Amino acid sequence: MVSELFFYQLALIALVWLCCMLHWVWPSDGGATSPTPSQPTPPLRMRSREPKPFPGLIHTPHCAACEQVAQDPEVPPPPAPPLITSRRGRPRQVDTAQHFCPNANCDYRGWVDWGNISANGHPSGGPWRQLYCSACERYFLETHGTPFHGKRVAPEKLVWAVGALAEGLGIRAVARVFEVDPNTVLAWLVAVADHAAAFSRHFLHDVHVTQVQLDELFALLSAVKTGEVSEAQALKRLSRSPHWVWVAIDPVTKLLLTIDIGDRTLAMAQRVVHQVAQVLAPGCVPLFLTDGLREYVTALLRHFGHWVHLPRRQATGPTPTLRWMPVPHLLYAQVVKTTRRRRLVRVTHRVIFGTLAAIEHVLAAYGWQINTAFIERVNLSIRQHVAAVGRRVTTLCKHEAGVRQQLALYHVYYNFCLPHASLRLPLPQSEPAHGNGSAKRWQPQTPAMAAGLTDHVWTLREVLLFRVPPWPQPAGV
Ligand SMILES: [Zn+2]
Repeated sequence: MVSELFFYQLALIALVWLCCMLHWVWPSDGGATSPTPSQPTPPLRMRSREPKPFPGLIHTPHCAACEQVAQDPEVPPPPAPPLITSRRGRPRQVDTAQHFCPNANCDYRGWVDWGNISANGHPSGGPWRQLYCSACERYFLETHGTPFHGKRVAPEKLVWAVGALAEGLGIRAVARVFEVDPNTVLAWLVAVADHAAAFSRHFLHDVHVTQVQLDELFALLSAVKTGEVSEAQALKRLSRSPHWVWVAIDPVTKLLLTIDIGDRTLAMAQRVVHQVAQVLAPGCVPLFLTDGLREYVTALLRHFGHWVHLPRRQATGPTPTLRWMPVPHLLYAQVVKTTRRRRLVRVTHRVIFGTLAAIEHVLAAYGWQINTAFIERVNLSIRQHVAAVGRRVTTLCKHEAGVRQQLALYHVYYNFCLPHASLRLPLPQSEPAHGNGSAKRWQPQTPAMAAGLTDHVWTLREVLLFRVPPWPQPAGV
């Protein structure tokens, strides 16, 4: 008796639910499949199905970096001096094509391979070569302006220690392995990070990409010591703390466009998108894919927008207004993930700028669908390679700046030194390996090579020895 009553109640509930669902589903489905356009369509449905066109903004959104650029614009390099081509005397044995004069009072300062530099041997048997500028008649070491300059440590030791840092060993661990003081390692890291940042600025510009994925990952810094704070508490705390690593990557070439650390705010989103816009070639408007963070919409609109005269709606309306609108080619979609108890429940896509068809067209060239899977893989790689970002690691980096330095090193190491497995190119003929190994069939490729920024895999030693010129050099000289 009781079970029967219960059954009827259940059936009633099911019927009511079915009615509700039908009522909710039917009109929209009917509208989509109905071939008869003569049917009058209720305006409510139109509004819910069609994405509302972006109305435009009256003011450009605020970006601190853009205003900084407007306040003090970049100083253009001084006029280039005449190229020195006369090669009197003995032909030069040592290649000095990578070098420039560092003397601030010299007309030839900062101009790479301008014919004014010659090699002058190793003074007092030291490891570094001395170079000579024929314009100002001054001598300088080939390590001028690199992290090796003025350091007494053996060059190999510095390269290995920096390599260990780049591979994800913490500062204290590196100090133990190389039997030096942790503060010495920190000082090396600071010098290397400055160099790495300049290196990235020198090579990463005018990049052409079709897609950019952006993401933020939280960094558990010294706030979380092993066992002291639970992960849940840490997450709660971190939603207010300034420790989020922001990453922008091109999923095609795997190039890491920018990496930065800060809080999860609009100001930070603006800063990251500004950096991405700086790296891209003028006029390059890629497809952007991000998570559901709203701040990206404003930041993308700021850096990929323009003023538009909106046409008046009626023949005798008010005068048309100027509105800040996204540029016509801008494509932007969000991948919104819903998790419950750390499990992924649902993934939804939200097209913000452009059309779904246009976005799918860009992705179809690679056989992809809308996703942010690749950047999530990179996030894992960052956790493995940057000790301060990885979980439950306590390092000397207790403040934001320390992490920023490790990230600057990782930025260069990832782009220029680490061949990416998915980028390797098949060799036309497999090369026999020396020794007993199997024949070499693949040409390793780094993201920077795939993006056309460099032609070879850089060693860390090469990166650290590269003297970054103070301004961009004219191409093909
Ligand atoms: Zn000079």
